[in-house]
Amino acid sequence: ADSALIALDSLTDRAAGLVNPSIRLGVTGLSRAGKTVFISSLVHNLLHGGRLPLFEPLHSGRVSNVRLEPQPDDAIPRFQYEDHIDSLIRERIWPDSTRAISELRLTLDYQSASGWSRLLSPGRLSIDIVDYPGEWLLDLPLLQQDYRTFSQRTVDLARTGIRADLSREWLALAEATDMDAPADEMTARRLFEVFTSYLRACKADERSLSTLPPGRFLMPGDLEGSPALTFAPLPEIPETPATPGSLRAMMERRYDAYKSVVVKPFFREHFARLDRQIVLVDALQAISRGAEAVADLERAMQDVLECFRPGSGSLLSALAGRRIDRVLVAATKADHLHHEGHDRLEAVTRRLVERAVTRAGLAGAGIDVMAIASIRATREATVKQNGETLPVIVGTPIAGETIAGEIFDGNRKTAVFPGDLPENPEAVFEDLKQGSQPRVNAVRFRPPAIPEVNGVRVAIPHIRLDRALQFLLGDRLQ
Ligand code: GDP
Repeated sequence: ADSALIALDSLTDRAAGLVNPSIRLGVTGLSRAGKTVFISSLVHNLLHGGRLPLFEPLHSGRVSNVRLEPQPDDAIPRFQYEDHIDSLIRERIWPDSTRAISELRLTLDYQSASGWSRLLSPGRLSIDIVDYPGEWLLDLPLLQQDYRTFSQRTVDLARTGIRADLSREWLALAEATDMDAPADEMTARRLFEVFTSYLRACKADERSLSTLPPGRFLMPGDLEGSPALTFAPLPEIPETPATPGSLRAMMERRYDAYKSVVVKPFFREHFARLDRQIVLVDALQAISRGAEAVADLERAMQDVLECFRPGSGSLLSALAGRRIDRVLVAATKADHLHHEGHDRLEAVTRRLVERAVTRAGLAGAGIDVMAIASIRATREATVKQNGETLPVIVGTPIAGETIAGEIFDGNRKTAVFPGDLPENPEAVFEDLKQGSQPRVNAVRFRPPAIPEVNGVRVAIPHIRLDRALQFLLGDRLQ
């Protein structure tokens, strides 16, 4: 009966799609990559006549109306667009970041570009924007791993590089735990907590390592505290089956529950319904943190992009019906660089995800890589120093930021030398290998002031948001 219900459901879905064509655009990326800021700026620019010359349907004047509408899914929280815009524009602070899945529907009326369809009534397209943590995608490989394999991999990685330092407390506790002792809730919780602190420490600002699965341990969504989210890997698990009633048996069961009640439903109910996807990545941050952070990001992107592997036979084809036919990988926060740096950031990012793209079989028309700034928090200028003219970026550092010993109060504009990416992306990776990294600044700026002209709020400034839109949606508005 269940499957009949699901079939009926997707039928009504499709019928609704015929009446009102819609496209589901997934927005993801690891935490702090810039998902919330991207969606807020994109929607604001579309609603407020933003400067989007490379988004053809809008630029050619074929789009007659853009509006927010109630979303079709009653069970998914709404993306709190108005609150985020209020933070950005009225308070000039960055909005609260993505913690779980949310959705927003934007509907566009447009004239078709081609002669025949123009004779029909005007077109209408609803864009359902679905925001979700990229961490959740990292869980896909778990579906193929049993608890023992998952534990082994996690423990092995925890013993390498700078992770070894950060994982010391957790590993010590885990090694001292008798996995054959009777299952005990407090021991399970304690192990979970120490393991999660290790994951959190890897992610911390000064380390900037990418997150490891289980993806929900740092981004729990609404399942926080449930048994399916209260387990941890154990070191050196023997191949023999677990003793019934033991701690190990309990951990195994919870790990399996995590896969069946958390991971699978997400892929089946949310991921499977996406048509297009943008993956945001803070490549600049990783580059400025050095080789280990970059290698780590590369690995995380491999796991993320693996989820978009096309065709049958992939792990997902059993779970997911429809397939995503366009994926955009976008390096965010390009406004931290002077404009000649934008193409360089793009090239470095392309190189960073190259292997992952090839491995996932994505190479070709369906994928692109760009460098963008959803919100441009800086403007460009030059300063003269020792007879030389140097390019700088000017912005308002957020309160408490330090630049060369100065602490900012968060209201004064300042010029910052943005640092430099080399012209040849290979050079970045060569340098990183040698233990040096390009000097890119890590100053965090306040959102820009958005003025009102004749009582009308102007749109939010950005870099290349229109190019991203054209790739993601342009063909659906023909
Ligand atoms: P999320 O976790 O992916 O939702 O990340 P957010 O969208 O909340 O962005 C995280 C932080 O990155 C923000 O608080 C900003 O400080 C910064 N940020 C994101 N996008 C931009 C951008 O386009 N320009 C600048 N200058 N900073 C950005």
